[in-house]
Amino acid sequence: MQKIYFTVGPSQILPSVAGYIEHAITEDVLSMNHRSAAFSSLYRSVDTGLKELFNIPTEYSIFFVSSGTEAMERVIENGVEKISAHFIEGKFGDRFYEVAQELGRDPIMFQQQGLSGFDWSKIELPKDVELLAFTHNDTSTGIELDMKQVCRLRSNYPDALVVLDVVSSIPYVDIDYSHTDCVFFSVQKGFGLPAGLGILVVSPRAIQQSRELKARGVVIGTYHSYPTLQKSYEQFQTPETPNVLGIYLLDKVVKEFLEVGAMAIREQTEQKAEMLYNFFSSQKGFRPLIDLAHLRSNTTLVVEVERGSKELIDQLDAKGIVVGSGYGEHKNDHIRIANFPAHSMEDIDRLIITIEEILRR
Ligand SMILES: *Cc1c(COP(=O)(O)O)cnc(C)c1O
Repeated sequence: MQKIYFTVGPSQILPSVAGYIEHAITEDVLSMNHRSAAFSSLYRSVDTGLKELFNIPTEYSIFFVSSGTEAMERVIENGVEKISAHFIEGKFGDRFYEVAQELGRDPIMFQQQGLSGFDWSKIELPKDVELLAFTHNDTSTGIELDMKQVCRLRSNYPDALVVLDVVSSIPYVDIDYSHTDCVFFSVQKGFGLPAGLGILVVSPRAIQQSRELKARGVVIGTYHSYPTLQKSYEQFQTPETPNVLGIYLLDKVVKEFLEVGAMAIREQTEQKAEMLYNFFSSQKGFRPLIDLAHLRSNTTLVVEVERGSKELIDQLDAKGIVVGSGYGEHKNDHIRIANFPAHSMEDIDRLIITIEEILRR
């Protein structure tokens, strides 16, 4: 039996992907040389498609990396000599902060108040802060960042680079690039693709900053640094042999999303999220972890299960429905449910009906 995956990553694969993989085989994509014109044309197509889909300014660069976690390392190495500020709403924000620590930088952190977001009025940063690091949607807690406040804060620190981890909220998140320098994501969540590819979108200003760091003798990386990635990007190439199949599949999915349109994707995501939150809010024994409705994630929902989540997860699995367990120490207290484009309205209905059946027993 093929199961449906509501896990937050890797997640459900889009139904069209099997056909794209077959095409990749028959069209010899699997042996495509990464220095060939065919590869450059594929890279250019992804670049154009992503820029159109997400309104990314043409002068920004789009780099291929291996994962979201690699992108965290790249943005710190290439953007920070001493101080980065990290806004932490869960385990993924923690990880980003640790990356800066492990790279020998001097990061500072702000924690949210309970599970109700940051007290923005209390945030004061050193004048020489070089980078502000945000997780748009923390997948461990199912909380969404208040982007209006990010823009407001940014205006007080215009010299700092603003970085957004959107791994678990793309393609839903709508980014204002006039306030954002670096954005990164991987493909195994909202793009409905197999894992193994990360995307890093970088402003000219961020690339300039990495060149200045390098000139001052800061180590900005050898295998992937902004200057080496940029040099290759200018020819639509990559420094190393990349995940060509992953890039090919991404190109196909970006085209598919363009057909639907970013607005429609956002509306459908919100409708499905509302169905799920309404269900869990009205169901005895369940409670959405985040109380404030405007901070609740639309793409990765975290729900407390009063009697513990393990049994429910197993019962759903037996019916071919895979939902995520809680993150870390909350493994057995929460369920986590992904709401990505690969999850249709019918899939959401099926999930809700199946939980109702289980509860009636
Ligand atoms: C999954 C996830 C990551 C890690 O991405 P990888 O591609 O697995 O390295 C980072 N940030 C967030 C918010 C995530 O959900």
